[in-house]
Amino acid sequence: MTDCIFCKIINRELPASIIHEDDHVIAFMDIQPVNPGHILVVPKIHKELIAELDTDLTSRMFNIAAKINLAIRKSPIQSEGINYFLADGEAAGQEVFHTHLHIFPRFRHDGFGLKFHESYTQLPKREELDEICGNIKLSME
Ligand code: AMP
Ligand code: ZN
Repeated sequence: MTDCIFCKIINRELPASIIHEDDHVIAFMDIQPVNPGHILVVPKIHKELIAELDTDLTSRMFNIAAKINLAIRKSPIQSEGINYFLADGEAAGQEVFHTHLHIFPRFRHDGFGLKFHESYTQLPKREELDEICGNIKLSME
């Protein structure tokens, strides 16, 4: 895709600090890291949403992320924990519309966090959970 930043990185039209590359997946340093060691795992094929990838490719992305996770923990890069984050769609915070998995080191008081709505602390009734569960489950076949 011609206007896509990540396709340009894949095609070497933009610079990137590449930590992994194979025929299907590339991983490089995020230009605006939450913390040092923030990496993006990106399929080489241009697809906006993760569900558009075939399951093999999704597995490959998570396998690379797992290797990176271990590598961060073994490396001199500091981390107390590690987050995986994937914004799937604009409403979910996606800004680059070429699907990608973030993996980044975390520290207890690093200031990163998700903001919850006010009613978040109220637990839904079991019937409500069961109904939503049933609806999604039906669509899994
Ligand atoms: P998202 O909000 O999940 O779409 O995240 C997009 C991520 O891409 C952000 O964390 C950006 O900092 C990162 N990003 C944007 N442009 C570049 C670039 N040229 N090289 C590396 N990372 C980038
Ligand atoms: Zn792209």
